[in-house]
Amino acid sequence: MTVILDGKALSNKILDDIKHKVSNLKTKPGLAVILVGNDPASSVYVKNKEKQALNSGFNSYIHNLSQNTTKEELLDLIAKLNCDNNIDGILLQLPLPKHLNAYDFLDKVDPKKDVDGFHPTNSGNLMINEKPYAIACTPKGIIRLLDEYNIQISGQNAVIIGRSNIVGKPLSMLLLNRNATVTIAHSKTKNLSHITKSADILISATGKKNMVTKDMVKQGATIIDVGIMRDSDGKLRGDVDFDNVKKVADYITPVPGGVGPMTIASLMENTLELHLLNKG
Ligand code: NAP
Repeated sequence: MTVILDGKALSNKILDDIKHKVSNLKTKPGLAVILVGNDPASSVYVKNKEKQALNSGFNSYIHNLSQNTTKEELLDLIAKLNCDNNIDGILLQLPLPKHLNAYDFLDKVDPKKDVDGFHPTNSGNLMINEKPYAIACTPKGIIRLLDEYNIQISGQNAVIIGRSNIVGKPLSMLLLNRNATVTIAHSKTKNLSHITKSADILISATGKKNMVTKDMVKQGATIIDVGIMRDSDGKLRGDVDFDNVKKVADYITPVPGGVGPMTIASLMENTLELHLLNKG
């Protein structure tokens, strides 16, 4: 029978554990989130992060900057947060408005406060299999979910559809470091279904509806759906044709309730870990 990988239940377990640990600390971890502009989806994500941070017993600092914030203003805020002892984690909510380039800022965050794991020091250490201060939240959450269900990674064929810097690439490194044989596919990949059918673990992170259909999946595979989109009926959907793919997969994540909650749990975990690193 197909097992539904319950990211919601596991994230609740992780968050309860964090809350308990924080209640025994002398000082509270502090998470600063910078939101530039008024992208509606980003505003929802930031509110959710704040809610979860407060629920975990952290101090939460939201910096709402206007749509026309200049490069200098944003750099100035990051520099201040880097020096602020109350802040353990700094998160720059992406995407930024068009006139700002994320990569002008991500490497200005102190790597020891880089709660998203996007600083080149942290992503570089991930690449050479040296422990980063923080690991990108979505990939970290996916590995934690696989481990929770004792899904073997070593020696398995893992195929990732999507090569973004926040999901596909860091996830490929985590899987490689755990001895999977990793293939990364993208929009220019030829014969995609031929490649996906070789996957023992198939991860889709494209944001495209029905990216993964039943005929693309090997019997008994593990399917991880990272995609999030709002369908025409208003419901959240992932990349995977869940109802049909479920018939051939051994393990599959739902959307919602799979990877999403694991991402937020990893963010809280990273904040606590950086607090212990900086103040422990
Ligand atoms: P992204 O930067 O837009 O990257 C999408 C990737 O998908 C690109 O590498 C693109 O290829 C590839 N792609 C697009 N169409 C394709 C096709 N037809 N065939 C093969 N590959 C295709 O996206 P992202 O930031 O990684 O996010 C991906 C999805 O995950 C989005 O729905 C996002 O909302 C969701 N997400 C969810 C979580 C969570 O916590 N659940 C976290 C992060 C992101 P090219 O590189 O060739 O363009």
